[in-house]
Amino acid sequence: MDLNNMQVALNTVRTLRLELMQLIIEIGEGVKEDGTQCEPKDNRYICTMNEMVGKLGNHMRHLEQVVGSLSSPPAPIASILYNTSYLTQESTSDRQALYTPLVSSHKWLDKVHKFSSNALQILSQNSLKKSYHNSSSNKKKRHQSTLLNISPQAFDGLLTNIDRMFPDLNITITRPCSSNVVLLVGLGRVLQAIVTFKGIMIEWVIVKGFNEPINPNNLQQELWSESRYQVFRKITDHANAAMLHFSSSTLPEFSVKSFMMWLNSYTNLFNSVCKACSNRLLNAYPPTWRDLRSLETYHFECKP
Ligand SMILES: [Zn+2]
Repeated sequence: MDLNNMQVALNTVRTLRLELMQLIIEIGEGVKEDGTQCEPKDNRYICTMNEMVGKLGNHMRHLEQVVGSLSSPPAPIASILYNTSYLTQESTSDRQALYTPLVSSHKWLDKVHKFSSNALQILSQNSLKKSYHNSSSNKKKRHQSTLLNISPQAFDGLLTNIDRMFPDLNITITRPCSSNVVLLVGLGRVLQAIVTFKGIMIEWVIVKGFNEPINPNNLQQELWSESRYQVFRKITDHANAAMLHFSSSTLPEFSVKSFMMWLNSYTNLFNSVCKACSNRLLNAYPPTWRDLRSLETYHFECKP
């Protein structure tokens, strides 16, 4: 904003007020007796009035010109900031300093809104289904549990449900580190898995043979030691890939269920044939890969 024009406008307003006040005083006093006789007093009085009103008119026009040349503050910012836009006109310097950071924080906030709405648009177009759950009933069952804050009772309930759904799975729940769960999952006489959670999201998985020693009281330590069998080291890799595949921030319970369903499909690890080559063994390995959708068995080399 042009401060010179603003100064001129303010001065003109002040002059106008003074002159108007003088005019009113003059009118209030009426025709004065000053002793001079050279011309009729009424005429002189009218002359003075004319002169004062003429000056007022001139100053008024001047004020209109100056005000017309003033630039108004930018409309979008003024409308976003409402009354805070008047901070620019503050006379104290400490308050004036608030205006610039306020404007830039509003701009950032606008950007965040814009980017997040764009991201939402893009993500909502992604129709990849990562769990086995039927999406038509998702909306009814969807609830707003946050991913990292689930009550221990609710989580235990979910795991008990899963335990019941898959009779071959034997789930032991431990909480070695405050609320975060570490599971020891046994699958018949095939394998055992250590599954660590962050909130309700699976964080890491280790798979070992059913006969490998695991200390159930120190599962966190066990996470650092791999299986001594190559086949279970392979399945550990597949398990972590599957965990990432099923991971879903919108339906975390179903991602856990889907993962457990996938893990349960290893119950026939040593007595199944590869869907592609119809052999039990390839390079001395059983079919270690499970199709993430159909759970069909494949050798890793034969997978579609
Ligand atoms: Zn094969």
